[in-house]
Amino acid sequence: MKKVLSSEITKAVRALCISAACNLEPDVAGALRTSLAREQSPLGRDVLSQIITNFEIADKESLPMCQDTGIAVFFIEVGRLVELDGSLEDAVNEGVRQGYKDGYLRKSVCHPLKRVNTGDNTPAIIHTTIVEGDRVKIKIAPKGAGSENMSALKMLKPAEGVNGIKAFVLDTVRSAGGNPCPPIVVGVGIGGSFEKSAILAKKALLRSIGSKHTDAEVAALEAELLKSINDLGIGPMGFGGVVTALAVHIETYPCHIASLPVAINIQCHAGRHKEAVL
Ligand code: SF4
Repeated sequence: MKKVLSSEITKAVRALCISAACNLEPDVAGALRTSLAREQSPLGRDVLSQIITNFEIADKESLPMCQDTGIAVFFIEVGRLVELDGSLEDAVNEGVRQGYKDGYLRKSVCHPLKRVNTGDNTPAIIHTTIVEGDRVKIKIAPKGAGSENMSALKMLKPAEGVNGIKAFVLDTVRSAGGNPCPPIVVGVGIGGSFEKSAILAKKALLRSIGSKHTDAEVAALEAELLKSINDLGIGPMGFGGVVTALAVHIETYPCHIASLPVAINIQCHAGRHKEAVL
């Protein structure tokens, strides 16, 4: 067994919160830079240039790239040979508490009805999986509300099939318009159950931009949807243009014969994600 201390997890999470807010990962930064040459609308190009300048300044000066530093979402894999000396949730939440305080990141978490801010951006949303090995892998994806609010979930009838899925994705992105701060990444979870499809959609956002699904049929659907979304003309920040989305990532899971859950999780251009392995 390998012992992992709560204090190590807290320290790693603190650092992840700050670096995710300030330093855009190369896959997202690269996709935004590449998209500039594709954009045909002058206003769209201007907006894209400003988005690029913004994340470059954030990176250089260690400043958050957006005022909405998000709710902290984690996907954590814990090796079955790992022995933790305390509560994983407590250690992660302490890291979030410290990271958001020390990094001067906006605390955006409140009671859902009373709307009273918790004051330290906790609790985090934590998805944990037990895996083989003796490592703890922590992935963070802070999520702003502008794009999260444009997400949707629908229990389709199986007879609606792939055409129903395509129509739902396009309707969702079309009605979102400029609200989720395009260029967006569209995570689509197909199958499983009501809640599983939503988690799949979120997880899909963590794939490296430009990566294709390993199933050729699903990869073809990703490419077709990306083209259809970019044909909608929404453009960067909704000002019109051909660069509405940088990628469509789909994840699938077997489902009940009588259902077809489909969840769509939209990620804005501030596609923040970081990873640490202990
Ligand atoms: S949607 Fe993204 S870029 Fe827009 S305000 Fe929210 S976090 Fe910032």
